[in-house]
Amino acid sequence: MTLLEQVHAIGRDAIAPHAHAVDRDARFPVEAFTALREAKLLSCYVPVEHGGMGLSIVDLSRVCEALATYCGSTAMIFAMHQIQVACIVHHALSADYFRRYAVELVERQHLLASATTELGIGGDVRTSRCAVIVQDGRFTLEKQAPVISYGEAADAILVTCRRAPDAAPGDQAHVLVKKEDCTLTPLSGWDTLGFRGTCSSGFALAATGAAEQILPVPYADIHGKTMHPFSHGVWASLWLGIATDAVTRARGFVRAEARKTPGTLPPSALRLAEVDTILFSMRAGVQQTIAEYHTLLTDNEEGAFTSNYGFALRVNNLKVTSSQLLVDVVSRAMLICGISGYRNDSKHSLGRQLRDAYGAALMVNNDRILGQSSVMQIVRREG
Ligand SMILES: Cc1cc2nc3c(=O)[nH]c(=O)nc-3n(C[C@H](O)[C@H](O)[C@H](O)COP(=O)(O)OP(=O)(O)OC[C@H]3O[C@@H](n4cnc5c(N)ncnc54)[C@H](O)[C@@H]3O)c2cc1C
Repeated sequence: MTLLEQVHAIGRDAIAPHAHAVDRDARFPVEAFTALREAKLLSCYVPVEHGGMGLSIVDLSRVCEALATYCGSTAMIFAMHQIQVACIVHHALSADYFRRYAVELVERQHLLASATTELGIGGDVRTSRCAVIVQDGRFTLEKQAPVISYGEAADAILVTCRRAPDAAPGDQAHVLVKKEDCTLTPLSGWDTLGFRGTCSSGFALAATGAAEQILPVPYADIHGKTMHPFSHGVWASLWLGIATDAVTRARGFVRAEARKTPGTLPPSALRLAEVDTILFSMRAGVQQTIAEYHTLLTDNEEGAFTSNYGFALRVNNLKVTSSQLLVDVVSRAMLICGISGYRNDSKHSLGRQLRDAYGAALMVNNDRILGQSSVMQIVRREG
């Protein structure tokens, strides 16, 4: 069985049967993560020499897409976890502590969450108010985090913060906070339109730990090479999975209609052909950007992430277009399925997919991204 076939088997057996309850009850997808852990998939991006599967970003993108055809929340949690793993793999394996942690992650299948968003700063990932304080080889860190997905279920949280109390807001560090060394005091719940199973409640985080848990490079480097392109790459991949699921449901509906009137195509068949062209464009954007990112990573082209804004702009374009196309595709699929898609109790139901779809533009607000892109458009070099 190929890895992707294994992922689909987990999707059918352990994810799809619980997707409705996960969404309805806004609960963590326990069954999905038990199965993903058993398959050692939480460490699939860890290089082989550290015990993982050494998947590439291309392979990982396909796994995220496949998972999302069964449950958007499961795929989102999986993708967010892999972003944190990638931050460690790309930037921290030069340090003994993180090499040991990578091995531990493989053995124990730790789940990693992220706290970048901060009260008073919102979604501006490259600015922090809170600061890590280091003394005698130990750190303390407090952060008011309005959104930490699966914060309660995670084994560790990677937290952005200022490098020191006297550092500027953009002079940031990235700190691995272990659950056992951290107190999470609830600030807000997570009763949202979509991605309900991500359980992205707000917390006041207070943590302590060894200074070696601070990633050994500035967060600016991590952001440019990993956090920014990796996040938008795996998010867009899972959005593609949600869109694919919607079109598959629409196809099932049109086929059922066609069977009722042999020899005559139902009018919705044309709409199905049309929505598939949009899905095609969405897929092309995801695959092209992921392929470019893969090449930059394998060529070890550090400069490509900092010197020219061309790649960063294409990543921003991927985020904005795929989050918009997702809503477009699911809405069109809903129109095709009609009341059958609108109902919550039908096999063609698209309510969860549509509600999830609207979250995509908000995960780092598209206006914020377009604002950054507008500046890069002016200062970028051609090529
Ligand atoms: C499903 C889901 C899961 C998430 N999980 C996590 C998580 O695990 N960890 C985490 O840290 N965060 C997480 N987030 C938070 C997310 O990534 C965003 O950073 C956060 O939602 C931004 O919140 P906001 O919309 O209130 O703030 P803002 O991004 O500040 O946006 C608020 C409004 O201000 C406007 N705005 C603000 N600044 C600008 C600007 N410079 N240019 C243009 N417009 C601007 C926006 O357009 C928008 O209308 C999650 C979000 C979602 C939807």
